[in-house]
Parts: sequence; structure tokens; C-alpha cells
Amino acid sequence: DPVKENYVRKVENCIFSIAFPTPFKSRVRLVAVSKDVLEDILDLDVSVSETDDFIQLVSGGKIVFGSVPLTHRYGGHQFGVWADQLGDGRAHLIGIYMNRQGEKWELQLKGSGKTPYSRNGDGRAVLRSSVREFLCSEAMHALGIPTSRAASLVVSDDEVWRDQFYSGNITKERGAVVLRVAKSWFRIGSLEILAHYGELDLLRTLLDFIIQEHFPLVDVKGPNRYLDFFSTVVSETAQLIALWMSVGFAHGVCNTDNFSLLSITIDYGPFGFMEAYNPDFVSNTSDDEKRYKIGNQANIGMFNLNKLLQALNLLLDPNQKQLAAQILDGYPDLYYTRFRKLFKAKLGFLGEEEGDDELIAFLLHLMGETEADFTMTFRQLSEITESQLLELNIPQQFWALKTVSKHELFPTWVSQYLLRLKSNMNDSDSERRERMTTVNPRYVLKNWMAESAIQKAERNDFSEVRLLQQVLRHPFQKCSMAEKAGYASPTPSWAKDLRVSCSS
Ligand code: AMP
Ligand code: MG
Ligand code: MG
Repeated sequence: DPVKENYVRKVENCIFSIAFPTPFKSRVRLVAVSKDVLEDILDLDVSVSETDDFIQLVSGGKIVFGSVPLTHRYGGHQFGVWADQLGDGRAHLIGIYMNRQGEKWELQLKGSGKTPYSRNGDGRAVLRSSVREFLCSEAMHALGIPTSRAASLVVSDDEVWRDQFYSGNITKERGAVVLRVAKSWFRIGSLEILAHYGELDLLRTLLDFIIQEHFPLVDVKGPNRYLDFFSTVVSETAQLIALWMSVGFAHGVCNTDNFSLLSITIDYGPFGFMEAYNPDFVSNTSDDEKRYKIGNQANIGMFNLNKLLQALNLLLDPNQKQLAAQILDGYPDLYYTRFRKLFKAKLGFLGEEEGDDELIAFLLHLMGETEADFTMTFRQLSEITESQLLELNIPQQFWALKTVSKHELFPTWVSQYLLRLKSNMNDSDSERRERMTTVNPRYVLKNWMAESAIQKAERNDFSEVRLLQQVLRHPFQKCSMAEKAGYASPTPSWAKDLRVSCSS
């Protein structure tokens, strides 16, 4: 009985609860599909998205025969505090698909109704936040950043009420569902809840399963498997956050339940791409303490990994505990090594020179003081020629760089930069520019772009969602449609005060 299964409760001694999606009562429309996910991951021709069966499946209207939909029990630390049981409050795992390449992918609906883990929530997601999640997961993938994927987005006419944190207004919105796809949805909080309740047999069972399925380099029978697992998660988390920083991505809610054990980006909510460079940039207006400001994400990674370690410690002997602590101590170095490597590539440096770090920091400092656009400053440095830079007279088309050039120390930086480029072995200016344009995107999903597409989508005009989707599939490639839409231009003035909060 689905109704009985779905009642909200405290769940003990399990990893999943069976729960069925709640179908929408009203008409459901397809907003967008990802051709890449359908074809490359799910072995489907994109034309299936026009069928009624598809809409039924991806909206939670019907489940595949034989599938037993599951909701996952997890806990977590939210904003630094143990939050106890959280779990899939509005998501249903509808199956695991093994594709032609032999890869297993977990299909999850988000926004598909109440579950045992819904707490005070309605189990729904609104169109606004679903558009953001859909577009950003695919955009992050195209940027080369590990992430969950989004196969489809549908919207219903069912009413969903949301409290707008910042205005205090309650607005009527519409329920939407994203079909999300990932190799695994397990997170740090998946282990934390088992550790918290002393369910150590289950903790061991889950860990061994995760290692067996997702950590091929770890010997699942070995006595040090949990250490090896931890070491991998520490290293990959450092890499993920360095990648976020390299594109100016602020996740917004870096709670332990939103940190994947596979170190992929999950749970797109009040994320944001930093515009004016500022280490204190906070994307989530509900984050009063600025805990998850962009410049703090690496520290938060450490905090979260420490919570993972506390869970693992229950299974480690004293000697292993000591080794695990040492592994965690290595995290800052791993992070800075990755960060440095990515930013050196963003500046077009080859090899290693003394003073590279200072040159990166120097530029970021100038960008901070002039509030220059993060994405476009690096992009325009990739497009401008050395001789144009040398002249210090930055053409207007390089508007972000022009902003930085107003700083009195810009000429000093430029001369040091050009000197450094000279030490690149076997390089030419055109090769440098070519290299830099493959790591510095021209298009990222800024809030104003999403907002504009959302406003149209609210009126059932999905053209701009689909335009953004097309553009963000190739973020490094200049595209005339994107230019026409202003996606590489300064943020329009109407969007200066846009805010996003946890309300989704
Ligand atoms: P998040 O801040 O998105 O990571 O969500 C934290 C927890 O709240 C997770 O357990 C979610 O499943 C749950 N949650 C968020 N929104 C809703 C909702 N509308 N209905 C039920 N549960 C929700
Ligand atoms: Mg979450
Ligand atoms: Mg969320």
C-alpha cells in the first residue's frame, strides 16, 4: 500500500525504504531533455521523449514493470550541526540501468512526492529550481566537472506553495520533476546516520557495497579497505572543490548530506557562479553566517571529510585511526596542488616557475579590488594577444579585462605576466590562446541567464531553457546565438539584485 509506505517517520536499521512516487493530478509538459544523457548513458533515441510513456516514466506517473522504487535513508551535518535523519524527502530511486557499455547508472526522480523522509516538506520541487538543477548539472558536465546528470525536466500544473525567504512572501508555483542520473547517490550522510545510531553491521555492509561497486582500485577484501576508500574520497573531494573554484562555482549548501562519496557535484539548489571576483561571495541568501561562501568551500571540504572520518573510525583499529588522521592531514596539500595546477592552466603557463603562485594571487587581488567578472576576465585573457596586452590599451570588447586594467598595478602585473609567458617552452601566442580557451569557459550559467529562462518557462515558453542548454553544452566555443543573447556580455542591470535561497 503506497499510502502506508509513504507516511513520514523516523526509520531505523535500514538503508532504503520502499516508497512510490506520487503522480501529478494535472497535465504534465516536457520542458527539456538531455540528448547526451538519453543517447550516451541510457541508450535511448532522443525521439522517445515525445512519447506518452516517457512523460509518464519521468514524471513519476508510472513505474517500469518490476521496479521497486526506493528512497534512501541518510543523515547529515547541516550548517555545521548534526541534523539527524534527513533522507530522500522528495526523491525516488526508480531503477539502476546497465547500459551497452556495461556501466550502471542510478535513475532518480526529484520532486516526485512525499516519502518517509519528507519531514515537514511537501515532497515537491518547483519549476524554478528544477530548471536551475537541470541546466547546471549538464553545464557542469560540459565544463569537465564531475557531477550528477539530468536526463529530463517536466512541469505539471499542480500547485506548490513556497515561502520566499528574503521577501517573506508565499507564492504559488508549479510542481516539476527532474530525472537525475548518477553512478551512485550515496553521500557522507549515508554513512553518518548508520554511525550515529551504532548500526555498525549495516555501516560495514554499505561501505563494502560501495567499495565493491565504485572503488575498483580498492581491494574489497583487504584489511585496509576503509583506509584506502577514505584516502580516495579525500583526494577526489580536494580535486572536485579545486575544480569548482576554477570556474567560480559556489555550491551554496555544502552540508555533509550534499557531499557525494563518489566526489561528484550533487544537489543543485542555491548555487551560483561568481561574477565580480570576491572570495566572500555567497550564492545562498539564506546563509546568514556566510559559512558556504566560495572562499570557504575548501575548508568546508575538510570539515565534511572529518565527519566522514568520524563515521569510519567506528570500524578502524587504533593504528588505522592514526593513519586515517594522517590521510586527512594531507588534504590541504592535495587541494592546493590541484588549485595551483588549474589556475596555472587558466593563465596559460607551461612548466613550473618560481613566482607562479604570486602571479595568480596578484591577478586575483586586482580582480577583487576592481570587482572584475571572474569568468570573462580569464576568458578574455585567453582571447587577447600578447601585443594587445603589451600596449595596455585594452579594446572595449574585452570589457572584463578592461575593468581590471583600471587598477594602478595592472601594468606591473602585465609585465610580469608577459615575462612569465616567455619562459613557456615551445609555445607561441596563438598556441597559448588556443590552450587557454579550452580551459576558460566563455559561458557559465549566471543567475540572470537562468532567471530569464525561468520567467519564460513559467509561461510555458521553454525556448530559452533549450537555448541555454545548447549553449552550455559547449561552454568553450563561441556561438553566435549565445552572443546575441548577451551571455558573454556584462550582467544586465535588471538582474543586479537577483537572489537565490534554499526555497526550492
Ligand atoms: P537540501 O537542502 O536540498 O539538501 O535538502 C535537505 C533535506 O530536506 C533532504 O532530506 C531533502 O530531501 C529534504 N527536502 C528538501 N525539500 C523538500 C521538500 N519540498 N519536501 C520534502 N523534503 C524536502
Ligand atoms: Mg540535499
Ligand atoms: Mg536540495
